[in-house]
Amino acid sequence: MRLSRSFLPTLKETPSDAQIVSHRLMLRAGLVRQTASGIYTWLPAGLKVLRNIANIVREEQDRVGAQEVLMATIQSADLWKRSGRYDAYGPEMLRIKDRHERELLFGPTNEEVITDVVGQELKSYKELPQVLYQIQWKFRDEIRPRFGVMRGREFYMKDGYGFDIDYKGAVDTYRKMMLSYLRTFQRLGVRAVPMVADTGPIGGDLSHEFLILAPTGESGVFYDGALDTLDWLADPVDVDKSEDLEKFFNNVSSYYAATDEKHDDKAWESVPVERRREGRGIEVAHIFYFGTKYTKSMDITVAGPDGAPVHPEMGSYGIGVSRLVGAIIEASHDEAGIIWPDNVAPFKAVILNLKVGDETCDTLCEALYAKAPERFLYDDRSDRAGAKFADADLMGHPWQIIVGPRGAKEGKVELKRRATGERFELTVNEALTKVLSA
Ligand code: ATP
Ligand code: MG
Repeated sequence: MRLSRSFLPTLKETPSDAQIVSHRLMLRAGLVRQTASGIYTWLPAGLKVLRNIANIVREEQDRVGAQEVLMATIQSADLWKRSGRYDAYGPEMLRIKDRHERELLFGPTNEEVITDVVGQELKSYKELPQVLYQIQWKFRDEIRPRFGVMRGREFYMKDGYGFDIDYKGAVDTYRKMMLSYLRTFQRLGVRAVPMVADTGPIGGDLSHEFLILAPTGESGVFYDGALDTLDWLADPVDVDKSEDLEKFFNNVSSYYAATDEKHDDKAWESVPVERRREGRGIEVAHIFYFGTKYTKSMDITVAGPDGAPVHPEMGSYGIGVSRLVGAIIEASHDEAGIIWPDNVAPFKAVILNLKVGDETCDTLCEALYAKAPERFLYDDRSDRAGAKFADADLMGHPWQIIVGPRGAKEGKVELKRRATGERFELTVNEALTKVLSA
């Protein structure tokens, strides 16, 4: 994309209404604009980031055998009356009436819809397990929308739903999802620690929230410092083998990590003092086993191995895709701006033409840009170099390819790595190889 023709409205001033750094940077870097309280328009660069995250989530869901569907954002109230949640859900649910006075709602989550659809089709235990997911907008009328997209009212979520014939199968599905999530976060370039979360009336240990550690997080967290460097994915896991899944899960669970609500003083004492960490975290995902809660209340059964009807066991698996955009920035920025992890960045590199109008510079930049116009942002504006550098740092491109008249004459450019500030003097080809292979 050519910067001179693109819609990337950056701001020099710090927006006064934004309380946390990610919100300020998202506004300043031109990623989003608020259109109503807790509701945002995603601008071109912001949308690229959102899509990059969603695509990684999708690939890692598919890799463990989950299948993508797309449910409507609008749901019928009748379904929620069947499960008994329509009244229980409270004022966070946006309730709507159509012209015939029929009660509808904007989906805050989709257990009812998916249970109904799947329940109508499944006949036998032989068709299980199934994991279905979607990446779709949700609406929750949060009492206090804040921190930009981190606590919005309309937000983008990956929500997945597992159906198994028995508890053992549901446990395997749960562990598979945990694995998929850790792979997802690794590819996103952030560390999200799985922490034991509240299971409510269901009980057991099958609820985990994944938290990105950041001082602005809304949750207090306690965890074993060994988790700061642990490679959860060091051992290969065959997702079709229960023993592999169990080993993986036990390894992750053997380190203490819990949010405030589930903090256990006794277990905490068994963590060596020098490894005890207390801090704050941002919940970016939540996995949750809830057994037959919905299949029972909505009267869904399949024929079990002996022919008798069985209520399938379920779990819900959510990732806050739009919240992740803010959370990644909270975890990865400096005073100058965003530092995008490579796989998330809207552009791999910005090409900074320091002397627009100079034939050598222009020719070299155009040639570079033509190599990957969909992955490069070409700053072809005739602004001062200082302003260009500031915008490049603010927008957080992983690489800056700096083209000035002196180097250009010799076919050389300067390459800057945003995350480390390292600079390299390279030929055009060397720079291209480094940037495009990263
Ligand atoms: P929270 O405790 O932050 O309100 P939740 O527990 O209600 O979240 P879940 O129902 O577990 O949320 O939803 C799955 C994921 O969706 C969360 O882990 C979070 O990343 C994201 N999410 C939930 N509410 C919002 C929101 N208002 N804005 C943006 N993302 C959200
Ligand atoms: Mg949650």
